[in-house]
Amino acid sequence: MSEYILEMKNITKTFPGVKALDNVDFRVKKGEIHCLVGENGSGKSTLMKVLSGVYPFGEYSGEIIFDGKPQKFKSINDSERVGIVTIYQELALIPELTIYENIFLGHEIKKGNFIDWNETIVRAKKMLKKVKLDINPTLKVKDLGVGMQQLVEIAKALSKNVKLLILDEPTAALNEDDSENLLKLIKELKEHGVTCILISHKLKEVISVADSITVLRDGKMISSLEVGKDEISENIIIKHMVGREIED
Ligand code: ADP
Ligand code: MG
Repeated sequence: MSEYILEMKNITKTFPGVKALDNVDFRVKKGEIHCLVGENGSGKSTLMKVLSGVYPFGEYSGEIIFDGKPQKFKSINDSERVGIVTIYQELALIPELTIYENIFLGHEIKKGNFIDWNETIVRAKKMLKKVKLDINPTLKVKDLGVGMQQLVEIAKALSKNVKLLILDEPTAALNEDDSENLLKLIKELKEHGVTCILISHKLKEVISVADSITVLRDGKMISSLEVGKDEISENIIIKHMVGREIED
C-alpha cells in the first residue's frame, strides 16, 4: 500500500485566457494535515475543485489517484462517495433549516420510504459530539455564529464518512478563539485517521498545524515541504510563495 492517500499528477486546468494550473503534482500522505499555500490566484481553490469533481474529468488533464485507485470524478457526489469532502469558505448550510436537517441533507436516514427524524436527531447529536459542539440539534443554523456553523459543516462531513477533509480558508471569517478551536479539532480528527488539506493565508496557523506544506505560485507547484525534514519558517514559505527574498 502507498503511504499516499492522494496523488494528483500533471494536473493542468485552463480557463479562457488563463492557465490556472500548469502541470501540478500534488501528493498527500495518509493521516497528515497538509497545508496548501500560495498567493491569491495561485490556483489553490482550482486544484481542490479538480480534486472534488467541481471540474469534472475531461475539463482538466492529468491523473488523480485516491486511496490507491485512479479516479475520474464527474461530480462532487462522485468524490464524496469515496470519502473526499470539501468545506468552502462560503458555507453551504441552509440557514432556515435545523442543525440535524442540515447534517443529513442529501443523505437522509430512511425508515422504509420515510425519513426517520427521531433517528436523524439521535445521530446528529452523535456527530455534534464528535466536533465538540454541545448544542441542541433542533436549533436553526441561522441562530449559530460562524464558528459553530463551521463545526456543523465538519459534523456533516463526518456523517458522510469523510477520509479526506478539504478546508478552503476556513479561518478567514473566524475570530481567534474560533480559529484555535477549529485547528484543535482538525488535529483531533487526524488522530482518528481523517486526512486534512488546509488552505490558509495565515502562516502562523499553517506552521502550527502542518505536517506538510505545498506551495503554489502562478499555477505551478513550487515546493512541497515536510515538517521535521525541511527547514520551515514564515519567511521561507513567503519566499517560495512570491519567488524572491523578503526583507524583514
Ligand atoms: P486561489 O484559490 O489560489 O486564490 P484560484 O484557484 O481561485 O486561486 O484561481 C487561479 C486562477 O484561475 C486565477 O487567475 C483565477 O482568476 C482563475 N480562475 C479561477 N476560477 C476561474 C473561473 N471559474 N473562470 C475563470 N478563471 C478562473
Ligand atoms: Mg481560493
